[in-house]
Amino acid sequence: MKRIIALTAILTAGALSMAAAAYQQPAARGAGQARGPQGPPVVTVDKVKDNLYVLKGGGGNTAVFITTNGVVVVDAKNPGWGQPILDKVKELTPKPVTMLINTHAHGDHVSGNVEFPATVDVVTQDNTKANMEKMDIFKQNNGRGMAKRTFRDKMTLGQGADQIDLYYFGPGHTNGDAWVVFPALRTVHAGDLFASKGLPLVDPGNGGSVLQYPETLSKAVAGLKNIDTVINGHSMTTTTPADLQTYAQFMKDFVTWAEGELKAGKTPEQAATEYKVPDKYPGYSGTVAALFGGLPGELKLLSDELKK
Ligand SMILES: [Zn+2]
Repeated sequence: MKRIIALTAILTAGALSMAAAAYQQPAARGAGQARGPQGPPVVTVDKVKDNLYVLKGGGGNTAVFITTNGVVVVDAKNPGWGQPILDKVKELTPKPVTMLINTHAHGDHVSGNVEFPATVDVVTQDNTKANMEKMDIFKQNNGRGMAKRTFRDKMTLGQGADQIDLYYFGPGHTNGDAWVVFPALRTVHAGDLFASKGLPLVDPGNGGSVLQYPETLSKAVAGLKNIDTVINGHSMTTTTPADLQTYAQFMKDFVTWAEGELKAGKTPEQAATEYKVPDKYPGYSGTVAALFGGLPGELKLLSDELKK
């Protein structure tokens, strides 16, 4: 009996630390799988609007938009999570998945692409397609799941209740982050440009920019009209346009502070130890996941950008 209780305690602790690890890796390329040691991938569903859902688990937040003639999926999670997404969509609607849009080229948003039927239309921003072409998972699958159609600054797909507007407002998390707008539902999927309330990951290998991040967010705040709901890349399911505006200001304040530190002669490492989230951003995180060198890495990237 005692042994069973102890074993249960160990398993519970294990599950908790796994959940914590998954939470702490908001946008890692090939990030920690949320999959349990024995269990299958668990996809959970949050209903956002009548015909719009967010599927959580296994990487970035996946949006499911049910249109008149088919289903549009935004982002496809980590390797092995494409089929669980398709299975979950089947529980929501008998309509076939016809289109897949990727917000950007990170492994926890595009890897599941290769499990979608080859007939599915895959749409991304130009630079995201180029970034995806460098990824092993698409090479290993003979290009299956690769972007078929791309856009540079704006693209409209479908019409009326089914309309989707894709925008690119500039670099930030990567150089190809798409904003996916469902105008009839007044909702936008922001991807990892607004993944969580805290300092974002910025990927130097895929053209991300600390320097331009605030400007990109400001352009989105100004350019996205008639929105009442923002789907986030990770962590929260949704936030509000007011939250996006606050986030844009938070990033502007952060970059202004960081530029000041670097201009004062501080090294990225020194500056990183001094960063403190301003009191006017309660609940915001001032830490950066280690993936691209953590906060010192981010400040080094900014320093390099300022020298250009
Ligand atoms: Zn990402």
